[in-house]
Amino acid sequence: MAGEEVARSGTLMELDLLDCPICCHALTIPIFQCDNGHIACSSCCAKLRNKCPSCALPIGNYRSRIMERVLEAVFVPCPNAKHGCTEKFSYGKELVHEKDCNFSLCYCPAPNCNYTGMYKDLYSHFYANHDNSWNLFGCGNSTGAWLRMSEKLLVLQEYRGGPLVAVQCFKEPQGVYVTVNCIAPSVPGVGEYSYKLSYKMPMGGNTMTFKSPEMNRIQKVSFETPEKDFMLVPYYFLGEQSALKMEICIHKLEKYEEEADEEEDEDEDEEEDEDDDDYDEEE
Ligand SMILES: [Zn+2]
Ligand SMILES: [Zn+2]
Ligand SMILES: [Zn+2]
Ligand SMILES: [Zn+2]
Repeated sequence: MAGEEVARSGTLMELDLLDCPICCHALTIPIFQCDNGHIACSSCCAKLRNKCPSCALPIGNYRSRIMERVLEAVFVPCPNAKHGCTEKFSYGKELVHEKDCNFSLCYCPAPNCNYTGMYKDLYSHFYANHDNSWNLFGCGNSTGAWLRMSEKLLVLQEYRGGPLVAVQCFKEPQGVYVTVNCIAPSVPGVGEYSYKLSYKMPMGGNTMTFKSPEMNRIQKVSFETPEKDFMLVPYYFLGEQSALKMEICIHKLEKYEEEADEEEDEDEDEEEDEDDDDYDEEE
């Protein structure tokens, strides 16, 4: 396109110039300035009752138009650029994107393994490197999930090298908390599952069931006690067992079927045998 001006670009060495000097969060428009040129974001102006903390002059009436233009002109790469993400964002927005970036790193859940990689690479790494043949699952099928209390973690994997699911237990005063998380970034179409976990009391006792319409996704297994989304198994339910013998049924969610990338397509033939909500508590 002849005649069109090529935008010149440079490098901003101190990106934190684009943070509000008061609250240190990324600036957003509108940006205000006092008569001395000190700047503040709009929420800081409100908190400071429009009094500049540097010089006590009023702040909040005049916009810092030039700072707003600078802010609009700055583009920063995704923090995962080094892993191949090519997206660029206006300042501050890149952190919002990072949470659901396809290039976010996931950590191998195998004990003593330091591998990190993109979720797809992690799944094939795990399938190839960690003998987990006892703990494979197929979507829609009930699978035994026998979690040794001493190990605290059981990793299930979709049987063709698909997603990894971490089942964990936490001994707490009220009982044992059991969590189920998929190891995946929060990207649409990735690691979206529902699950049903059931635990049957030994000696033919009661069964308790925990159903979740959407499995949480995590990039790294954490051993911190969860605050929510866990099944609580009271101690009287456990008996003398050293392992939680549970059944788990994992279903792939259909909601992003349209956008799902090709790599996910192979999972779709599994979904015909979808059996919803057919589970009742057995007394
Ligand atoms: Zn601020
Ligand atoms: Zn001032
Ligand atoms: Zn990215
Ligand atoms: Zn590993």
